[in-house]
Amino acid sequence: MIREIVWYGDEVLKQKSHTVEKIDADIKELINDMFETMYQNNGVGLAAVQVNVLKKVIIVGIPQEDESMFEMALINPEIIYHSDEECEGEEGCLSIPDIVDDVFRSTSIKVKYLDIDNNEQILEANDFLARVIQHEIDHTNGILFLDRLESHQKRMHKKDLKFIKSESLKRQNTKSVNEKY
Ligand SMILES: [Zn+2]
Repeated sequence: MIREIVWYGDEVLKQKSHTVEKIDADIKELINDMFETMYQNNGVGLAAVQVNVLKKVIIVGIPQEDESMFEMALINPEIIYHSDEECEGEEGCLSIPDIVDDVFRSTSIKVKYLDIDNNEQILEANDFLARVIQHEIDHTNGILFLDRLESHQKRMHKKDLKFIKSESLKRQNTKSVNEKY
């Protein structure tokens, strides 16, 4: 099922997600829905909070050169190592439509997580994959890529952000009306 993506301006995006205690059918359904939602919106990564679920679940789906898809679901992901070496790269976010900018991220990381079968895994990731995972783990801590921009970069997006925020508030109001009736 495709879920609605929460937009910038919704306070939920600033909240910290909770640790998943048990990988049950609900979590598996959430992950399936997240993949559907991400591909529908042409994303390469998504965090559960972006579909309004405050749980530490992130997914990545990165098209490979041979046209296959590199897919992963990480539950309770935690960065246990990040390189001091950083590189700058362009990022966008499904919760902040049409805004992209350059963000500095560690070039390589090690991340500890649970896979869907409840096995603890450690993944070493570099370059683009490392970037996507850092972006998504930020979401689980209530951090957006905008928070990592220099103030002069952020200023350039002020008008667009104001627009997204007002659209986001409209959507939230419709939501609460729907829930009432
Ligand atoms: Zn994002």
